[in-house]
This record gives sequence, structure tokens and C-alpha cells, in this order.
Amino acid sequence: MKNSFFVLLLSFVLVVTACGNEEKETTNEPKDDEAIEETKNEEETIAKEEEKDEDVTEEKEAEVDVQPSYIVNEKTWKVEPIKDANDKVVLLTIDDAPDKHALEMAKTLSEKNVPAIFFVNGHFLQNEEGKKTLKEIADLGFPIGNHTYHHENLTEISEEKQREEIISLNDLVEEIIGSRPQFFRAPFGANTDTSLRIAKEEKMIPMNWTFGYDWEADYQSKDALEKIMVETPYLSNGAILLTHDRSWTNEALEGMINGIQEKGYEFLDPNKIQKEKEAA
Ligand SMILES: [Zn+2]
Repeated sequence: MKNSFFVLLLSFVLVVTACGNEEKETTNEPKDDEAIEETKNEEETIAKEEEKDEDVTEEKEAEVDVQPSYIVNEKTWKVEPIKDANDKVVLLTIDDAPDKHALEMAKTLSEKNVPAIFFVNGHFLQNEEGKKTLKEIADLGFPIGNHTYHHENLTEISEEKQREEIISLNDLVEEIIGSRPQFFRAPFGANTDTSLRIAKEEKMIPMNWTFGYDWEADYQSKDALEKIMVETPYLSNGAILLTHDRSWTNEALEGMINGIQEKGYEFLDPNKIQKEKEAA
């Protein structure tokens, strides 16, 4: 009785506060209006994107090792095996990167051979240091996802502005690492029809998450976060884990990974997720 109450309470906390608190956390993020001016070339973007199509096909043929064997379910926000791929997997994602801890997190993950997607914002990529950090994370082999340029709530801005928030970041990421993001996560998980359409035009897989805790006041410490990420009833097959570029998440990362692996879960390689282009 006590347990089911706890689970119920947890569900409530999770569902009700996931977006709200992240919003509180992230409204403090630096905003830079100058950045908008730097990145306005929508027409060029479209032309560039058309040129790219052929390259992608060649790349696909070269990747014999990694067959697409999972999809992202856009209703449950879990990953699902297409055929007989291992279903006891979870996917790790790190948002609001690369701020102060992303590179260290990437190095920890790399040492442990744990794949993850880093969802980045343009406002962290405006100076050389941010660009260099992104390049280092990408060079360690981590896929980079689009988390929009300024982390605004897409439900509150015009269609034109949404397009700019998404495309300008893809242009910037491509300029820095040489390829465009293949995954898209709306700030606060607040997708709109427009942003989903643009994500698909850009061949990005939209991706919210199944659970996460590091924006909750109760879990902003190494021990508490490590424990809840492993013991939560939401840890289940195909779960997409949301974490952030934060000091306590950085500190909890290794213990969290060990705990989840001890429970028998494999961290899914995002390259095994079927790309938008390949969808029927
Ligand atoms: Zn975010």
C-alpha cells in the first residue's frame, strides 16, 4: 500500500513538474540577441540540405556494422526494437549542452563505453570555447542533437521564429562538426506541429523522454540523483533517460550508469535508431 502510493506520488511529481521545473532552471540561461543576426540564412540552408541528400546515401552504404534496429515511439517516448534486437535497452540523453560539464560527462561516458546523445543549444556555441567543446564531444563519437538555438518555448513563438530556432542551430552545428544533427528535442518537450514538420524536413528524429530527475530540487545532489535514476519504477525496457549538463549530474553519472547496467540494461547506441530518411 505504501509502495503503490509512492509510485503514484512519483508519477504525479514526474508528469506535473518535468517541464515546469526545467523551465525555471533554464530561463536563467544566458540569452544573446546578437546571435540571431549571425544565423539568418534560411534559403541557403534549404539549398545546402538538398545538396546533402546524395552524401547521406553513400554514408549509409559504408556503415555495414550498424544496422538500424530500433525506432522511437512518439507516443510513449521510448525506443522499441524493430525485430529481434535486445529489448532490455535504455537510451541516455544529455540536454542543455555544452555548458560547464558536458565535456567531462562525455569523457566519463567514453571511458565506460556508454553511448549517449548530447542535445545542444546555440547560445552555448557562440564563442570559440563552446565550439571547441562541441567538436571534442562529437570527436569522441557522440551524436549531437538539436535542442534549438535559444531554448525558447516553441509553443509561444511564431512559425517563422521556430524555423529560425531550429535551422540556424543545425547550420551552426554543421559548421563546427561537419554534419547536421539527426535528433531533435524541443525545449521543455513542448513540440508544435511546425517544429515537428521542420524536424522531419531536416531528417531529424523528434525525441522527448521517458523520465528524468536532475531538475528536481530533491535530486540535485550526487547521491540522491544516482539512487533515483537506478531505483525509479520508470526504469524499464526502451526508456529514454533525460539528464542535463549540471554539476550534480556529472558527479552522479558514473554511479548511475553502473547501477543501471547492474540491473541488466544495455545503453543503446543511438546510431542503431532508424533514421528519418530510411523510414518507409
Ligand atoms: Zn533543455
